[in-house]
Amino acid sequence: MEGNWEELYINGDWCEPDSGDSLAVENPSTRETVAQVPRGNEADVDAAYEAAERAQEEWRQTPPAHREELTQDLLQAIEQRREEIVSLLAAEAGQVPPVGHTSVDLTTDQVAEAATMPRRMKGEHAVSNIPGKEHIVEREPQGVVTVISPWNFPLNLSVRALAPAIAAGNTVVLKPATNTPITGGLLFARLFEDVGFPDGVLNIVTGRGSEIGDAVAGHEHSDVVAFTGSSEVGRRVAATAGENLSEAAMELGGNNAHIVTADADIDAAVDAGLFGSFTHQGQVCISINRHIVEADVYDEYVEKLTARVADLPAGSAHDEVVVGPIIDESQRDEILTYIQQTIEAGATLETGGDVVELNGVDDSLVVAPTVLSDVTNEMAAACNEHFGPVVPIIQAADVDEAVALANDTPLGLSGSVHAGDVGAGKRIAQRMETGMVHVNDQPINDEAHVPFSGTGASGVGGYNSDDFLAEVTEKKWISLQHEAREFPF
Ligand code: NAP
Repeated sequence: MEGNWEELYINGDWCEPDSGDSLAVENPSTRETVAQVPRGNEADVDAAYEAAERAQEEWRQTPPAHREELTQDLLQAIEQRREEIVSLLAAEAGQVPPVGHTSVDLTTDQVAEAATMPRRMKGEHAVSNIPGKEHIVEREPQGVVTVISPWNFPLNLSVRALAPAIAAGNTVVLKPATNTPITGGLLFARLFEDVGFPDGVLNIVTGRGSEIGDAVAGHEHSDVVAFTGSSEVGRRVAATAGENLSEAAMELGGNNAHIVTADADIDAAVDAGLFGSFTHQGQVCISINRHIVEADVYDEYVEKLTARVADLPAGSAHDEVVVGPIIDESQRDEILTYIQQTIEAGATLETGGDVVELNGVDDSLVVAPTVLSDVTNEMAAACNEHFGPVVPIIQAADVDEAVALANDTPLGLSGSVHAGDVGAGKRIAQRMETGMVHVNDQPINDEAHVPFSGTGASGVGGYNSDDFLAEVTEKKWISLQHEAREFPF
């Protein structure tokens, strides 16, 4: 998508940031600057919320059919710009094109689901114990919804909150991640202009979370904070929202296990394990973080998975590879440190373990696809969310131990089980303490009409479908007294 990304989008206008400063966005494959974006400050945050608050009254009164029509037009606008968006996702987020297309598919699925929200804002009717009284419970938009999104899947993790919130009659202030301010933020301004949404319905402030995060999450006009990101930042955002008595819908980190039982189809478990670990270089909240394999098939699994991993092409997101770059140096260094610490703690490095040379530079952001065997749950690559192209494989004596190991983490987002019998797999899934589990598959699944949520330190509240509609709407009880009521005094 062509353009200048040097301005904020507030009240339907592109405007200079109050600071006059900008932040550079780096392409993680080429290390070149993709764009300069505004460095928003608290004055910009205030301006965005004022605009959202002003636009609220009229937007919530807009007939549902019109909100539905505009949301469907947004879907068309995204499809029309699909190739430009995929190319921006490669340049800004390091998403290889097949992953970029998946991002767009997930996004259009979310927008299609959001378009149904205006007609789903159903209320309730109840009888009363008081003679002549009728109870009506209406569902109303909450008001202004704050969306804070991460850099890993910026497009669809922004849209999964902003599209249903807006379709349901809310206005939005969006703060994208600093690594991906265009695909997680400013490009939505272009798309909203394509469609012709009213001014102030979507307002976008780019800038560092460390500088404006508290002002965004705790703004007096914010009624709901829809946050996707790390558990560490999420705790602070939820506390800030709580101080302001606004609701918090939090989708946080994961430490997802892929359990393989002794009677599983090992080739199928390896296929799934490969996809679940290496999609977008493992930078997915629902990636496999740990492979937990029963002892009888452990060696076979390690051998077959290592052979597949050693063949995975890795390099620039602009080339035909499976594994592209890590988003930035600090994330890459953290992954390399986890690998090193895990080896020092006694694990065996089967393949990978270092960076891949790229464009003649041996200090690239591409981490070689890595397999570590003889791992235990306490080792760094297993007990932390490594968020990289890394496969730690842990041995379990039996199914009970596999489940205990899988559950031995404060996080509870997604997971998967491969078992010979799908019924046995379901029983294991029921024992796994996560918000989502996939039997004879891998953990990366997301469909906009199915609830998406974590348990424990992986989140509070729910995304997708009715769950997110409940987050961005509130119930209002209106009672009608049809005949004179008798009072005791
Ligand atoms: P992050 O560091 O928590 O950042 C997420 C967002 O919060 C960014 O926009 C960031 O802005 C902002 N932020 C930072 N400090 C803030 C503050 N004090 N107040 C308000 N906002 C603040 O997460 P990330 O590194 O971008 O993303 C990776 C993490 O997200 C992983 O843990 C992953 O598991 C999780 N995730 C979860 C889901 C899910 O659905 N459960 C989906 C995807 C990712 P800056 O970029 O400017 O710092």
